[in-house]
Amino acid sequence: MKVVHCPCGTNVEGETDDALVENVQAHVASDHPDEVGKHSREQILEMAHEH
Ligand SMILES: [Zn+2]
Ligand SMILES: [Zn+2]
Repeated sequence: MKVVHCPCGTNVEGETDDALVENVQAHVASDHPDEVGKHSREQILEMAHEH
């Protein structure tokens, strides 16, 4: 399982890179609307690690 620990304290998970990127973008859209579009796929995957 890949995980991004969002600075807000939410852990966003995904079983694949695609799922993780999608889930992070959905989290940003719902909780950080100011930041929508500011994080590229590469940036999201750089923040991710395996759990
Ligand atoms: Zn967040
Ligand atoms: Zn972790």
